[in-house]
Amino acid sequence: MEHKSLTISYTERPETELEPQWQQLVASAKEATLGAYAPYSQFYVGAAVLLEGGEVVCGSNQENAAFGAGTCAERTALFYAHAHYPGRAVQAIAIAARKGEEGFTEAPVSPCGICRQVLLETQQRSAGPIRVLLYGRRCVQEIEGVEALLPLGFENF
Ligand SMILES: [Zn+2]
Repeated sequence: MEHKSLTISYTERPETELEPQWQQLVASAKEATLGAYAPYSQFYVGAAVLLEGGEVVCGSNQENAAFGAGTCAERTALFYAHAHYPGRAVQAIAIAARKGEEGFTEAPVSPCGICRQVLLETQQRSAGPIRVLLYGRRCVQEIEGVEALLPLGFENF
């Protein structure tokens, strides 16, 4: 038997201390929350994806009375990006969320398990690690590489 362990590392800093490029991507994610359709959860999520070449594609969560039909902001943005810019590498994604009337979440918001799996496969299709920026009013978490969000993720063998 062999015992193994995994360690992840990431950075936390106030939004104002991000490099201007990442501040802009976070701002796009915050703005994208305005497009959310979330009458059931009142949790309005926005995602902004930076593509190789500089385009930014945004998405928001879209709920439905048939709950299983709804989808997350991250997948809305990623699948739109793949559909409209096929073959273009994803360089970064920023995620932000507002909770009802409380405004943006105090703590950084992180992707659900399904979106982590989609991000992992997106990274495998891209040229290098995807930078993940998780926004909260308290701080922004910067994660370099999706594998930190999904250790031992499923791979298409
Ligand atoms: Zn998700």
